[in-house]
Amino acid sequence: MIRSPFTHTYAALPDRFYVRQEPLPVRSPELVMLNTALATELGLNFSYYSDKELAALFAGNTPFPGADPLAMAYAGHQFGHFVPQLGDGRALLLGEITSASGQRRDIHLKGSGRTAFSRQGDGRAALAPMLREYLISEAMHALGIPTTRALAVVTTGETVQRDKPLPGAILTRVAASHIRIGTFQYFAARGDVDSVRILTDYARKRHYPDAASPLEFLHAVLEAQATLIAAWLCVGFIHGVMNTDNMSISGETIDYGPCAFMDAYDPKTVFSSIDRNGRYAYANQPTIALWNLTRLAECLLPLLDDAPPRAEALATEALNRFAPEFETAWQSGMRRKLGLSAEEAGDAALIGDLLQLMQRHKADFTNTFRALYDHALSPENAPSPFAATIDTGQEWLNRWRSRFDATNSPRSEQLEMMRYANPFIIPRNHQVENALMAAQTGDIKPFETLHRILAAPYTTQADYRDYTNPPKDKERVFKTFCGT
Ligand code: AMP
Ligand code: MG
Repeated sequence: MIRSPFTHTYAALPDRFYVRQEPLPVRSPELVMLNTALATELGLNFSYYSDKELAALFAGNTPFPGADPLAMAYAGHQFGHFVPQLGDGRALLLGEITSASGQRRDIHLKGSGRTAFSRQGDGRAALAPMLREYLISEAMHALGIPTTRALAVVTTGETVQRDKPLPGAILTRVAASHIRIGTFQYFAARGDVDSVRILTDYARKRHYPDAASPLEFLHAVLEAQATLIAAWLCVGFIHGVMNTDNMSISGETIDYGPCAFMDAYDPKTVFSSIDRNGRYAYANQPTIALWNLTRLAECLLPLLDDAPPRAEALATEALNRFAPEFETAWQSGMRRKLGLSAEEAGDAALIGDLLQLMQRHKADFTNTFRALYDHALSPENAPSPFAATIDTGQEWLNRWRSRFDATNSPRSEQLEMMRYANPFIIPRNHQVENALMAAQTGDIKPFETLHRILAAPYTTQADYRDYTNPPKDKERVFKTFCGT
């Protein structure tokens, strides 16, 4: 990589969109993870670099050829409270790379030192949370859910002070862009309609080129988020911090903090230790997404129509589409989990009754659905996943079986659909925590193993069945690793 791989369309926006800042060098960087498959997708060839050179590159100690690092400005509602200026306090956009398939991707360092937006923060990040983001974002990608990606993690050779001193690290993140709802709020809160218009135009062309107007852009963002949140719910994912600054315009999952996957099915599940009121609980995510999108719509009002009442009517009409779009996406995701291709009357009840059973019996979300797939695959061998443990399970199973058998599509297609909707393995929180604890004390092996298994989540990996076990009581993690 001698020539610059970068273009700089965001840096070409007006100065008020960002503050230029070089990464601040760290003492002795070491490479921990490098995602060579992703590098290849991006057309980056690192094979001529030694690990030492790569570490220096991903730490920001030696500049990426052609990078033009900047900290993006944004605002955001955090747990419902508006903060007019957040911005990249510990992250930098190096530039954009166009991948082999022609998609423009941001390359972004997280933990690269203080910026104009750092406020009281040190601009740095700790190893465990950066590895957590690497692991879970790559697991989400393997599950087929839109997400930012992780290209590399380096340790810095420095400690960061949290509630105790922790090893410091820097993550290199790859995203369709880092434009958030909060980016729009930053300008809207300043009454800077001109900038909102420039940003809307930029984001529209970059992410939704078919959207011809700000209103169509709003529709497109709503639809992308409805699809995304439905996909989260279908694998039991809980984001944990759905603040408006953590919601991407592109429709990718972004900012993996105290996120986690649910074990036993309970719609009220919360993992984040800072989410005291369950604002971001599992089943509340569609509601919160709509709340956040309403904040986006407010920013766009002046662009929708010159007459405020008309603009509000258009925004309301657009926002009203979210619930049915989410419902459609979720129902179709759940039907895939049950191996049902076409929609039929009674499906909603079939899905709802199963979830009720699961909740009543604290059934493991992932394993229950995978067991149903195994059962569909070989009904004669596999023990019923329900009869033994669940009172009315057999009755439900009979109903499902007759609906499944009556479906008018080839059995092999039904089974494939089920397989790719019901992962064998997800990043179980207790496994993730164990791997991160080990990595933090210098043993990266458990992390590497977990990462490798999670790369093929829909494949039955019989040797790793232990990793599919829900936590035993003493292993249970109620609050995720929240050191940042
Ligand atoms: P997050 O909770 O990671 O989404 O971050 C919320 C805001 O706090 C963003 O503006 C971050 O840039 C900022 N921030 C988080 N951690 C730090 C840190 N260690 N130093 C400076 N800013 C930070
Ligand atoms: Mg954030």
